[in-house]
Amino acid sequence: MNKKESLKQIMEITPRPDFIFTKGSGSILWDQNNNEYLDFVQGWAVNCLGHAPEIISQVLEQQSKKLLTPSPAFHNEPAIRLASLIVENSCFDQIFFANSGAEANEGAIKLARKWGEVNKDGAYEIITFKDAFHGRTLATMSASGKPQFKELFEPKVQGFPKALLNDIDSVKALINDRTVAVMLEPIQGEAGVRITEDIFLQELRQLTKENGLLLIVDEIQTGVGRTGKLWGHGYADICPDIMTLGKMLGGGVPLSALAATETTSCFEYGDQGGTFNGNPLMTAVGCAVLETILQENFLDGVKTNGKYLTTCLEEFSSAHDLGEVRGRGLLVALDLGSNRGPELVEKALQAGLLLNAPRPDILRFMPALNVGRGEIDKMVSILEKIIEE
Ligand SMILES: *Cc1c(COP(=O)(O)O)cnc(C)c1O
Repeated sequence: MNKKESLKQIMEITPRPDFIFTKGSGSILWDQNNNEYLDFVQGWAVNCLGHAPEIISQVLEQQSKKLLTPSPAFHNEPAIRLASLIVENSCFDQIFFANSGAEANEGAIKLARKWGEVNKDGAYEIITFKDAFHGRTLATMSASGKPQFKELFEPKVQGFPKALLNDIDSVKALINDRTVAVMLEPIQGEAGVRITEDIFLQELRQLTKENGLLLIVDEIQTGVGRTGKLWGHGYADICPDIMTLGKMLGGGVPLSALAATETTSCFEYGDQGGTFNGNPLMTAVGCAVLETILQENFLDGVKTNGKYLTTCLEEFSSAHDLGEVRGRGLLVALDLGSNRGPELVEKALQAGLLLNAPRPDILRFMPALNVGRGEIDKMVSILEKIIEE
């Protein structure tokens, strides 16, 4: 291979198949040889409207002709519009835009520490959870409870004691004078779609209020309609103090957000920033995505499709003696009951289906929110074919 064309010039951070994706539309991707793939990964739960939706290319074209980046030291119209779309549809009052989920979480951690400095005598510890995933910067890896992160890049950032999900006593046991917040995902996606019980979120809200602590929800995977409600914490009907968004907010472009209630939003000049943060090109796309998701019946469609996907997977599971199907909306996992995940993902790829195994015994399904029934049927029929081999 010509040196200039060598795939080896891309850092190998994960094993990748050696074809190259060149094109996508809806739930379909094509590689350079025009092979077709049915995509139930969608950029890791990112492309909520599927690949290359018309609305996003229109907005990108229009906005790119108007204004790309005036710098975050100036206001721009799409950022203001997106902030008000989020504020009007949530219990939060102020938004800081960022470029990745980890960066939004890093901002949430900084905001909580700032709040602790101002209001709680310098308290800085944030209780997070075993198996949680919050990103890949040093602080967000430290906040994560992913076992594989434990030994990496020591020394980690201090101050993230780990509790057990859905175990309120394990949280209580970690609270002390240094505690400032509790941070968690409404559904632990990377841990294999483990649902945070509504009652646990309600207990946490109560507990954090009683102890003068902040409650931070990482909605990077669950927010923006993935679960069939606009925000994952909507099922528990609580109002957290801080929320982070990412992945689907940009529908495929890099965009994330940190949302805070008025009393929590305490950054002072110089505390937070970033060159590309809130740039109009990305926030204009965010507006189009949220406006689409907020259209009447869109979220009902996610719920209906989620139920259909779940039912199909349950039938598949019982026909093949597999385990539990769990999730909410279109974030669904099938427990395989054995470590066949990586092998099935590989076979699926060869059969033209993109799937993900966040753990060796779990298959995760995170299609576009506007996936069609026919595509769900096709996905299951490919699964049928490969499991019989
Ligand atoms: C994907 C994800 C992140 C990290 O987002 P990046 O954009 O990859 O930095 C953080 N938290 C959760 C829950 C996620 O699913």
